[in-house]
Amino acid sequence: YSERVSTDCLFCRIVERSVPATIVHETDTVLAFRDIDPQADTHVLVIPKEHHTDAAAMAVADPQLAGEVLAAAGEVAKIDGVDASGYRLVFNTGKDANQTVFHVHCHVLGGRNLTWPPG
Ligand code: 5GP
Ligand code: ZN
Repeated sequence: YSERVSTDCLFCRIVERSVPATIVHETDTVLAFRDIDPQADTHVLVIPKEHHTDAAAMAVADPQLAGEVLAAAGEVAKIDGVDASGYRLVFNTGKDANQTVFHVHCHVLGGRNLTWPPG
């Protein structure tokens, strides 16, 4: 289940510009902004403007939109200059992954050596 906007969703509010964010990239369908609590020099969240709860739900409802989120993540990596050095894309999904915002967001992490496996 998804809906176009959810007024009680923090990231829908960022899309509406009723909550401020440092926006780094935008298209008609996606928005990318810096994480408020960055875990690396580059830590940007890429979201679809339309509300979907998680990556799989988005991909089922709108596969083109899912592709646009990934393409925008690549653009963000270029903007921050980490496309050559490398970066990590993460979709935390559900409780064990510590998803805290239930509007799908792709973390773009880069600018340092990222350990694997993650904690
Ligand atoms: P999750 O744990 O759901 O994958 O990640 C949610 C992310 O959203 C966290 O990294 C958190 O720091 C970030 N975040 C939470 N509230 C805000 C906010 O108001 N503005 C921004 N820019 N990031 C936020
Ligand atoms: Zn939302």
